[in-house]
Amino acid sequence: MRIVFIGPPGAGKGTQAALVVGRYGIAHLSTGDMLRAARDAQTEIGKLADQYMSAGQLVPDDVILKIVQERLRSDDCRRGYLLDGFPRTLAQAEALDQMLAQEGTPLDVVLELRVPEEELFQRLSGRGRADDKPEVIRQRLVAYRQQTEPLLDYYQRRRLLQTIDGLGSVEEIFQRIQKVLDPLAKHSGPQIQ
Ligand code: AMP
Repeated sequence: MRIVFIGPPGAGKGTQAALVVGRYGIAHLSTGDMLRAARDAQTEIGKLADQYMSAGQLVPDDVILKIVQERLRSDDCRRGYLLDGFPRTLAQAEALDQMLAQEGTPLDVVLELRVPEEELFQRLSGRGRADDKPEVIRQRLVAYRQQTEPLLDYYQRRRLLQTIDGLGSVEEIFQRIQKVLDPLAKHSGPQIQ
């Protein structure tokens, strides 16, 4: 199963992503995690990315696309994957479509985790990550609204979009997600754990 997971910062994507990959036995590909690892390892890409991340801005598409393309070729992605935090721009979505069309491995579904903006700000302020300072949070929400939200329409047109209500307990939200994914998992064959 190949899944794209879209949602604003603070929506709880990371928590739900971990549950999804556990249940369906697929790889978890978080571009945010990859960038933070590169930053901590002080690689060239990491140092470059940090300038954008610490300002709450998106890292340039060409940098992200290179990282994702390499990762999608790894063995553990053959059984499927959840893309968490990618694509985040229309250019990234189009590039992903092209990559997957070349390999003959289209997406099965795009999940949107929807949470009202007032709630997001509160949740993020309590998290304590380096990019969770109020002005950086604000910038990340703006980046989401301006650059990532247009993807919802893009995937809606392709009949791939499923919107999940992101308010409620972790378990309640995960059940909503399973309702969408379980029928798809049956068709694409992998083992539900
Ligand atoms: P996340 O952990 O997904 O919230 O990502 C943290 C930060 O990494 C974002 O605020 C961006 O600066 C950067 N980032 C992660 N994924 C992407 C992406 N697909 N495109 C551009 N920047 C990204």
